[in-house]
Amino acid sequence: MLKLHRISAKIAGITVLRKIETEFRAGSLVAVVGRNGAGKTTLLRSIMGLIQLDEGRIEFGGRDLARIPDYRRASLGIGYAPEERIMFPTFTVEENLRLPCDVLGMPGREIDARLERTLAVVPQLKDMLQRSGAALSGGQGKMAALGRALMAGNKLVLLDEPFQGLAPVLANQYAESLRRLRDLNPELCVVVTESNGSLLRDLPDTTLTLERGELISSAGVAGQHLHEEQYR
Ligand code: ATP
Repeated sequence: MLKLHRISAKIAGITVLRKIETEFRAGSLVAVVGRNGAGKTTLLRSIMGLIQLDEGRIEFGGRDLARIPDYRRASLGIGYAPEERIMFPTFTVEENLRLPCDVLGMPGREIDARLERTLAVVPQLKDMLQRSGAALSGGQGKMAALGRALMAGNKLVLLDEPFQGLAPVLANQYAESLRRLRDLNPELCVVVTESNGSLLRDLPDTTLTLERGELISSAGVAGQHLHEEQYR
């Protein structure tokens, strides 16, 4: 569903992604691991069109993403939760959740259905719906950010370091939500970055490892088969 064809990206003149070639399949949960600065955030931002590629191409559902401006990518069914929290403080959590769909002009019935689906995956949000975005703790904000990514992303969901700074009990709840997400949406592709890959335990189907902007290995289960590839 999502193919990266030898993508490279630079920030401030320095190459931070180097010729990444990989494919993300529908129905898979992919972990992207690597140390701080390895390029995980830049990889997700490239897919969202927030960073211009220096070379290469990104294909989503057979379409070249370069032709689709960043603000329209959510309309393709791509949801993104950046590492930093961006809840609108004066809106309620429910309004924050509905926002990406409202912006896309989605009919109210469809938004209601998506909200229901989201609450089934992240049930903790039910009690927060009427609270203001400003009233959330760090962990609650992460749950709400996951919810918002799920509202827009019915094909692909990109989650940037969601476990960062989460207390163990919340990290477990978050992992449970990812498990439910996979069980309830067998066609969805979920990409999660993590500097400490062990927090995801046995969840990922595939684990991609980045080192200094290079994809150095891919390991996991594809279909029925275990695979492990080293790229250098
Ligand atoms: P982290 O876990 O720290 O977020 P990461 O693997 O997500 O790490 P990126 O944030 O993608 O890594 O950063 C990749 C490289 O790009 C790093 O060397 C980082 O210092 C550099 N970089 C990222 N953003 C900027 C920026 N705004 N200006 C300059 N350099 C940047």
